[in-house]
Order: sequence, then C-alpha cells, then structure tokens
Amino acid sequence: MKVLVINCGSSSLKYQLLDMENENLIAIGNCERIGIDGSFIKHTTTGQDAVKVEVAIPDHKVAFEQVIDKLTNGDTKCIDDMGEIAAVGHRVVHGGEKFSSSTIITEEVKAAIDECSQLAPLHNPPNLIGINACQELMPGVPMVATFDTAFHQTMPKKAYTYAIPNKYYEKYGTRKYGFHGTSHKFVASRVASMLDKPIEDTKIIVCHLGNGASICAVDGGKSVETSMGFTPLAGLVMGTRSGDIDPAIITFLMEKENLSAADIDKMLNKESGVLALSGISSDFREIEDGLDAGDEICRMTMDVFQHRLISYIGSYAAIMNGVDAIAFTAGLGENNITMREEVCRDLSWLGVKIDKDKNNCRGKECDFSADDAKVRTMVIPTNEELMIARDVVELLEK
Ligand code: AMP
Repeated sequence: MKVLVINCGSSSLKYQLLDMENENLIAIGNCERIGIDGSFIKHTTTGQDAVKVEVAIPDHKVAFEQVIDKLTNGDTKCIDDMGEIAAVGHRVVHGGEKFSSSTIITEEVKAAIDECSQLAPLHNPPNLIGINACQELMPGVPMVATFDTAFHQTMPKKAYTYAIPNKYYEKYGTRKYGFHGTSHKFVASRVASMLDKPIEDTKIIVCHLGNGASICAVDGGKSVETSMGFTPLAGLVMGTRSGDIDPAIITFLMEKENLSAADIDKMLNKESGVLALSGISSDFREIEDGLDAGDEICRMTMDVFQHRLISYIGSYAAIMNGVDAIAFTAGLGENNITMREEVCRDLSWLGVKIDKDKNNCRGKECDFSADDAKVRTMVIPTNEELMIARDVVELLEK
C-alpha cells in the first residue's frame, strides 16, 4: 500500500511517498515560498539526485499539482498515476481535546480542526488549506489527520491543569496540550523495541531537541507529562523561543517598555531562546563552533539549555517513579555528541552511565549506555512521517 504524507505550513508543503509493504521511502520533497516570489519545489525520488525547480506556486493547490507532476512525470517519475496511492495522511498541529488519536477526515473532522484554529492560529488554518487542496486533486481517496497534540491526551488532569481560575479553561480551553506527540510516540515505541520489552512495561523519557524542543514522560506507552503547554512556547529553551519564564515578566515588561501583547508574543517566540542567549544564532551548530573556539557566551548558552533539560529529566523520573531509558531525538538530540555527554554526566545519580565510544554517533539509532548502566540512553532518529503513514494503514485496515 502506498501512502502519501503531507505537512502543510502557511507558505510550505512537505511531502513523502511511502511504500508501506516494506516502509520504504519512494520519494520526498517540499514546496517552499508558496504565494511569495521565488517559490520552488525540491524533489528527490529514492535512488536519484535531488532536483530543484523554480516555478510560480501562487497557492497550495498549485503546489499539489507540482507534487503530482514530479511523482508521475519526467525523470523523477516513481508511480504511473495517482490512483496507485491508497491514502493520504495529513499532519495537523492542534486537535484540542477532541482528538486523542489519528482519524479519517470527514466534513465533521474538518469543522473540528477549524474550531481548534483559535488554539493554533498559525498552524491549523494552513493544515486545513492543505487538506482541501489535496481532496480537490485526489477525490475519493481516503484522508487521515494525525495531530501533534493527540498522543498527550492521556496526560492526567493533575498534569494538564494550570493553577489559574477555572473559568478560563471552560471559556478558552487554557490547559496544557503538549506538542511533538507523533515524534514522542514513534521514539518511545522504538525504545521499547530496543529494550526488548512490551511498551506497557516501560518508563521512557523522550527528549525531542530540534529548533523546537520538548520532553515527554512516557509511562507504559502513554504520555503522562510533557514540557510544551497551551502553546509550543513553554518548557525547554529552544532556538528562538524562551521556554519557561516567570509569567510576571510579561506584565512587568509590558508596563516598563510600553509593549503590546503582539510585541511580547514576538519577543518570546522569535527573539528569545538560544538566539537571545548567544546573541549570534538560533542554530546549535554555530553554538557548537563557538564552544570549540572557547567562546564563553556560547558556553553559557549551552549551560542554560542543558540545565533546563536536566531539571526536566529529573522531574519526569520523579513523576514516573523511575525511568528505564532516556532517548534523544531531532536535529540537536541526534547530532550533538557533547551535549548528550554533558547532560548524561549530570544524571549519574539516576543510574545513567554512558559509553563514550558508543555515544560517538550522529543521526542513527544507537544505545550509548555503558554495560552496567541502570538507565539506558539512546539516540533514536525521529520519523514523524512514517508514524503518520503507520496510523493511516492501521485506520484503513480497521
Ligand atoms: P530540527 O528542528 O529537528 O531540524 O533541528 C534543528 C536544530 O538541530 C538546529 O538548531 C541545528 O543546529 C541542530 N542540528 C541539526 N543538525 C545538526 C548537526 N549535524 N550537529 C549539531 N546540531 C545539529
């Protein structure tokens, strides 16, 4: 069964075509700058070089037409026609409290995604635009929505409730939702396989450390705590996002600097995090270069990032009353050897002990625990698209 996975942003469309008989990738690509000058499609059919074509892409429907063209025509052709594709999986950021798992897209589901737009105004609307464009060009093909928030719907009330007046929860849904759920679910299931245990018998902490970063406590295969909250701003220090701060700083700065809500929102989401700490970049690779050159500000940036991460790991081990394995994933988690070594060194009290040689790995699955470690430490490259495609197959087979 061939499954197309789609991830639509406001000006981008990422896609992967997977053969789910063997979970092999057939093709991968992205359309960028949709609706903006300088738009292009970059496409790679497995086994071939990537091709980049600069072409006018005024909207998401035209983007889809480009995708169809690359999949079915010319040198990049990998299927005879779109009829070979059994189903499409769409990544949707926010499912609110309505969706605790992936679901077949119906008109009611689309209305519910639209309702959740107030919780994710930058993400759900383009997700819906992508679904509509795809339905127009692939009529009759089953479509599935997979939500970033769904995996965290198992969190207990005591974990997702904020200590502010309940009327705001009732009126606006102000609670912790959590994000990166598809990634946390995928990684936790790989960790359980590597532990050779049923996931129901495992306690796992997943650290998704990319430009956006979140951490998740997965007890018995279920998310019981996670660091992102009502929005993806909370928790760890991120590329340009602050993560946790004292909420009183917001009103303090609004008064002192005469800032609006929009100014504060921009500052916390786009001008904070690693970018603000380092003053040079939101990209951890540049921080790593600075560290190698003995730059003190880069050292402090990494220290702040790691301090927050370590305190979350300790907290999640406490919440689960133990932990069997800690997994690192996404750009930084999969690639930054020194960060993993330093974080794990400060977790020795927990029973973490690493094998430095085994930790010398980037972007591939590895268990880098020492043989006598009580808590295993692993690198698991995330694969949200494969997780979405697996959910599609499971729903279709039901
Ligand atoms: P992601 O959001 O998962 O694409 O991750 C992006 C973040 O991971 C950026 O801050 C990158 O600097 C970092 N990253 C990606 N590749 C590497 C690498 N090879 N070494 C260190 N950090 C990396």
